[in-house]
Amino acid sequence: MDNKLRTETLCIQAGYSPKSGEPRQIPIYQSTTFKYATSEDMGKLFDLEAEGYFYSRLQNPTCDAVAAKIAALEGGTAAMLTSSGQAATFMAVFNIAGAGDHIVASSAIYGGSFNLFNVTMRRMGIDFTFVDPDCTEEELNAAFQPNTKALFGETIANPALNVLDIEKFARVAHAHGVPLIVDNTFATPVNCRPFEWGADIVTHSTTKYMDGHASAVGGCIVDSGKFDWTRYPDKFPGLCTPDDSYHGVTYTERFGLAGAFITKCTAQLMRDFGCCQSPQTAYILNLGLESLPFRMKQHCSNAQIIAKYLSEHEKVAWVKYCGLEGDKYYDLAQKYMPNGSCGVISFGLKGGRKAAETFMKHLRLGSIETHVADSRTCCLHPASATHRQMTDEQLDAAGVGADLIRLSCGLENVQDLLEDLAQAIENV
Ligand SMILES: *Cc1c(COP(=O)(O)O)cnc(C)c1O
Repeated sequence: MDNKLRTETLCIQAGYSPKSGEPRQIPIYQSTTFKYATSEDMGKLFDLEAEGYFYSRLQNPTCDAVAAKIAALEGGTAAMLTSSGQAATFMAVFNIAGAGDHIVASSAIYGGSFNLFNVTMRRMGIDFTFVDPDCTEEELNAAFQPNTKALFGETIANPALNVLDIEKFARVAHAHGVPLIVDNTFATPVNCRPFEWGADIVTHSTTKYMDGHASAVGGCIVDSGKFDWTRYPDKFPGLCTPDDSYHGVTYTERFGLAGAFITKCTAQLMRDFGCCQSPQTAYILNLGLESLPFRMKQHCSNAQIIAKYLSEHEKVAWVKYCGLEGDKYYDLAQKYMPNGSCGVISFGLKGGRKAAETFMKHLRLGSIETHVADSRTCCLHPASATHRQMTDEQLDAAGVGADLIRLSCGLENVQDLLEDLAQAIENV
């Protein structure tokens, strides 16, 4: 597919081109296994000498078509689907880092990613340094060590809503000879393509806007094909030296820069960890992708109107939304996401925790969920839900004040949402 096609077209057409008489919509290849005429034919697949399918844990045609669509949307050379966003984050990092290695990550990242890094991957012997994403280039440089293998950040942080200065992060990562991995879940490739700003690998929780209907948990890893692993063979031996578990294949030699990262991640990590996406889920995800540009437009326009309304409301203490003029991240958002950012806002009411609890009780359309980024407007007061074990002091330290309300603006008519918010605030 021609990657110069525009986003709306790629969302519909990329990844699958049926031949004469074949199904128009991507078929769900609900099959664990694939049949071959001879053992030799199959042997070639196992040796990675021929392309094809033999077992759906490694590759499946439905999943591959949807991955190819996301690769086209991000402007990457290769992609793979995973069972969840968590699996995508884990495998993107673990594909180039092992025991004794070190990763620098933004401290403003999804709580699940933070825990994965700070607890579980530490237990695997990988060390992490977390940096304030708003730090200076000098401070960022100082976090690197000789054994650092990657820099990690989120385009728009969930739930802190910081906007990442991707160019700054890419510049520093490349100066240290490592790739920049960006979790692009909240912005989606409709609003930001991190590869255009120097990022090397992109990850997604497709559970959020990409699926967009709260239907299916999933993830994706995309490679830009631009990072030259062969310049640093000592840093990335897994990509630049023979893999004994695959008959001595050297991924960068056999698959080039365009394919090495994703092929290794599929052949080794998916083979061994097995956190693959099901073809059913990939099919649902693909339906979501078809309408992604139109939904993102509506999410962003609803959020923009609601953020402005809240910022002018006398009972509202503060609003955080990078599309709002005067927001700390407004300029970065204008640079990286001039057509809109995402539909997630956070705000606090005058009256703090108590006011937030009252407000939540009176919402009618906005439902109380931990989820974000789907078609239904939903709302979370972390201090009384997900973070309820923490004291007010601990909440402040985590950047999630006792008054913070996270609002994920859905696709409903914005007037109905404004009226719902108005009556809920009125009760405070
Ligand atoms: C939800 C989320 C994840 C984790 O994805 P799951 O699909 O829930 O495993 C990772 N990153 C971000 C930014 C998220 O919002």
